[in-house]
Amino acid sequence: MSMQGSCLCGGVRFEIEEPFVTVSQCHCTNCKRISGGVGTTSGRTRTEAVRILEGEELLRPYTPAEGSAKTFCSLCGSNLFGGGWPESEMCSVRLSAIDSGFDGEPEAHIFVRSVASWETLPDDGLPRYEIRAT
Ligand SMILES: [Zn+2]
Ligand SMILES: [Zn+2]
Repeated sequence: MSMQGSCLCGGVRFEIEEPFVTVSQCHCTNCKRISGGVGTTSGRTRTEAVRILEGEELLRPYTPAEGSAKTFCSLCGSNLFGGGWPESEMCSVRLSAIDSGFDGEPEAHIFVRSVASWETLPDDGLPRYEIRAT
């Protein structure tokens, strides 16, 4: 059982060999900037469970002054991984990059203190955390 993912241009293809530990939607200001929208929705998994199948040379990390490394495709700009990948033990995989093998839903909204005036939190009954989930 594995999940497959790719970037917008298709240059990067990857696979995740384990189910996500948690799935959450992050509304922080960094995630807004890198997503071009309300934030990122990511699954947490062990970094070792992520296998790059194609386009490793296209991957470009960026570490903001506050926060962990995020990794993009240098051709199309797609945000693929966060949470310090590939150096950290656990990492975040953006659900927007998943092509198949995942049919779950977010379990929490995090960093809701950064919800923007142009953003509406859905009334989905999920727990909301000011910063991160505990
Ligand atoms: Zn790409
Ligand atoms: Zn965030």
